[in-house]
Order: sequence, then C-alpha cells, then structure tokens
Amino acid sequence: MARYIGPACKLCRRFGEKLGLRARCWGPKCALERRPGPPGQHAVRRRKLSERGLQLREKQKARYSYGLLERQFRRYFQRAMQRAGITGENLLQLLELRLDNVVYRLGFAGSRRQARQWVRHGFITVNGRVTNIPSFEVKVGNVIAWKEGSSNLEYYQMMAEEIKNKAVPSWLELDMENLRGRVLAFPAREDIEVTIDEHEIVAYYSR
Ligand code: SF4
Repeated sequence: MARYIGPACKLCRRFGEKLGLRARCWGPKCALERRPGPPGQHAVRRRKLSERGLQLREKQKARYSYGLLERQFRRYFQRAMQRAGITGENLLQLLELRLDNVVYRLGFAGSRRQARQWVRHGFITVNGRVTNIPSFEVKVGNVIAWKEGSSNLEYYQMMAEEIKNKAVPSWLELDMENLRGRVLAFPAREDIEVTIDEHEIVAYYSR
C-alpha cells in the first residue's frame, strides 16, 4: 500500500508542531527542537490562515500523523460518516484501531512508521496469527503480540527495557512480561492523545 515517504521532519516544521513521525522524536535530536522555523532556505514566517486553510491544515496533520494518503484518509472519513455517533470522533476511533497504530500505542515501536514496518515484515501477530496488514482493524478482545522468535532481535531486547517507562492508553492492556497487548475497549475521544481538531476535518469535507 502506498504511503508518504518524504522527509518526516519537514512536515513537523511546516505544521510548527511535533507529529511524532520518527523513533527519535522525543529525544534531543528532534529537528523541530533544533530548527523550529518552517522548512526551506528562504522560509518566511507563518501567515495567518484562512478558515479553509485551518481546516486543510488539521486534515493534513491527521493524515500525515497516521501515515495515510488522501484516498485512504477520505475512505476513513466516509466510513466515519456512515457510523452512528459523532463523525469526527468516529474518524479518530477508526484511525486508532489500525494495527500499526495499536503496535505504536503499546510501545512496541517508537513511531507509527516503525510500527508499520514491524507489521509489514511479519513480526506482529493478532490472536496468534501473523498479520502483516498495517490497516488491519483490531477488535475488542484481540491480543497483539510479537511473533515467536522475535525475542532474539536486538531491537526487541532494547524495547523490552524501554517499554517499562512508557504509559499505555486506558483502552489497551499490556502484559510487560510477555510483551503482549490486549484491546480492552474502543477508544473514546478523551483516550486519544492527538493535537488534532477533528471538527475542522469534518468541516473540510463537508463543503
Ligand atoms: Fe517531527 Fe519527530 Fe522529526 Fe521532531 S524528530 S521534527 S517530532 S518527525
């Protein structure tokens, strides 16, 4: 499945906020910390955005944060609209339930990009079966774990140490001993930690 493969840090600098697209995002090497201005040699200061510009900005932020192309993102929006409830919240919930996002939220990867790689390369199982589709939608009760034999990976050893200091969202449960996660519930809006204004996204697509 196609995805954005351009420079991740440029996106954060364009939006002026951390999108958490790389494993090093929360350390001192973050490009936004070192060069907080917009990208480009002759970058100008950010202009005040129009209403439409703000809506587009939130939509793009969400799209890049979850690593989706426009067509994929629009499909999620259409599904969100067809569901009962608030469209914006439905949209974020659907995005959160992607397998690559759950792998990231459990702390198995430092970013959604990295999580996607683990999934694509067949290191992740859902209910004991290898699932290599990043967009796979997890259900309540699903168990997400590493494939047998993954503990030999150098990364796995490092992650097993680091994960002890990470917090897992309340809709997920993590068994730290066996590095196995379980989906306890569908995430409510307050459980989803993103700086995205979903109302602007709904307004963007409603025109
Ligand atoms: Fe954004 Fe991460 Fe790059 Fe920092 S390191 S600019 S948060 S992608």
